[in-house]
Amino acid sequence: MTEPLLKVEGLKKYFPITGGLLGRTKGQVKAVDDISFYVNEGETLGIVGESGCGKSTTGRMLMRLLDPTEGKVTFDGKELTSLSASEMRKARRDIQMVFQDPYASLNPRHSIEKILMEPLNVHNIGDPKERKRKVHEFLEIVGLSSYHAKRYPHQFSGGQRQRIGIARALMTNPKLIIADEPVSALDVSIQAQVLNLMQDLQRDLKLTYIFIAHDLGVVRHISDRVGVMYLGNMAELADTESLYEKPLHPYTQALLSAVPVPDPEFVREEVVIKGDVPSPANPPSGCRFHTRCPFKMDICSQEIPRLAEVEPGHSVACHLYEESRPQ
Ligand code: SF4
Repeated sequence: MTEPLLKVEGLKKYFPITGGLLGRTKGQVKAVDDISFYVNEGETLGIVGESGCGKSTTGRMLMRLLDPTEGKVTFDGKELTSLSASEMRKARRDIQMVFQDPYASLNPRHSIEKILMEPLNVHNIGDPKERKRKVHEFLEIVGLSSYHAKRYPHQFSGGQRQRIGIARALMTNPKLIIADEPVSALDVSIQAQVLNLMQDLQRDLKLTYIFIAHDLGVVRHISDRVGVMYLGNMAELADTESLYEKPLHPYTQALLSAVPVPDPEFVREEVVIKGDVPSPANPPSGCRFHTRCPFKMDICSQEIPRLAEVEPGHSVACHLYEESRPQ
């Protein structure tokens, strides 16, 4: 069996909480707490969860825009977590990011040509003539035109700006793209166009995606497998069809029962969760979902359920499935 393109093992990110006159550390926000997953070449892994669940922090750690507190990230056979800053800069040629707000991530004073040339300059790819040719080529690839190169970000619509954000991510011919809520700032009709563009690019350029979003419908549309995060943990991870048709974790069931289904024949059992997400500075003991779970048992507040495969390709972290786990 071939090795996955990306492998994440025991990844954690704790942010210190400081306070008082001396700025002493008073506690920690456990934004991501021991998650593991892999992504195969050419596939899309969706990561879904409510805001504050740690999905964006995870994306940033994979790029080492944030250094993990603990854990290992292996990409294309290289352990990213042990690379020096300059080695990591080189590795970023193969891993690029698309952000939620393309306007905030595009320098308003730079022309599109300058913005798209920047990654080529940073990684010393091609001579000035080749760089210019590549800018024009990639503008066309994302559905814009060469003449757009001379314009500035404010002259484009939200959807066009996200196409520019995608073109910028593609300039270095990366293998992996981490897209963090890439369509959530766009109108629904434009969302579909950008998602279709991303799917076409994946097919034509053999890209691998990690697609981070809070919208379950959007994630379903584009992902081969989906991981559901809750309060810094991975609650469930499965291939898309199995996760959406037969969710196992009570949190996934609750998220999905809130999503309208277009088929009137289809009846999904409603799982209602109470209360708000607890603070990651003081997460509940045992299963982090136990304070809101309608199926809570005694063991749930005492023992952390580990993520384990209970059906082929379907893993869940929940004590309800204790008997289905491999020993
Ligand atoms: Fe609910 Fe317990 Fe499963 Fe957590 S481990 S989701 S509290 S049943």
